[in-house]
Amino acid sequence: MIYLKTDEEIELLRENNLLVSATLAELAHHIAPGVTTLDLDKVAEEFIRSHGALPGFLGYNGFPNTLCISVNEQVVHGIPSSKTVLKEGDIVSVDCGTFMKGFYGDSAYTFAVGKIDPHTEALLRVTKEALYKGVAQAKPGNRIGDVGNAVQEHAERHGYSVVREMVGHGLGHKMHEDPQVPNYGARGRGPLLKPGMVICIEPMINLGSREIVFERDGWTVRTRDRKPAAHFEFAVAITSKGPDVLTDFGVIEKALNN
Ligand code: MG
Ligand code: MG
Repeated sequence: MIYLKTDEEIELLRENNLLVSATLAELAHHIAPGVTTLDLDKVAEEFIRSHGALPGFLGYNGFPNTLCISVNEQVVHGIPSSKTVLKEGDIVSVDCGTFMKGFYGDSAYTFAVGKIDPHTEALLRVTKEALYKGVAQAKPGNRIGDVGNAVQEHAERHGYSVVREMVGHGLGHKMHEDPQVPNYGARGRGPLLKPGMVICIEPMINLGSREIVFERDGWTVRTRDRKPAAHFEFAVAITSKGPDVLTDFGVIEKALNN
């Protein structure tokens, strides 16, 4: 069942996703060699609560923390830990959720820790581009398959692979609503996009093969070949004028350039 949102509800979803964006921007100032992923989790939890929201992931299906932090070959759903110390050359996917005024925010950004190797840097750039290509298809009259196809085409054209097991989703009163939003697919297939739909588009793109495995903690997903993976996520409202991105990477990138 796909729930269409009113304009007022879309604004509440925007508020949430702007808070997620601000949280990720705050984290940009803290991500550095020597910092643990649990340190980052504490910064985010305090930031979210001080802005009158609840951490959206904490307790979700039993998830133990505020952030999912996935380093290098970890794709998504990494659990913050005092034992995971960031080092120069790492990449770190930070997925963040909020809950406020009855709605969820959910967005993700993959950060570089200091200087990273050029192949990994290209992976980050292309994954973000793939997200933007998907967003451009998120308009009324198109179908979910048009979004996934655009993401997949861009990633595969650069020789990367698309994770199949995890997908984007609708966003609203619940963190995960219909429809599912795969990062692959065929043009003209899948649910029709209509004004009022709010979806999370979140490419998970691997440098090597698309195969993934689950770690024994029951959460962390990593690449089978242990090559790096990147993950960027936008919440997007479908409007009669086209895609309205509710997440703001601008504040994150401004923080990174300071
Ligand atoms: Mg997310
Ligand atoms: Mg999501």
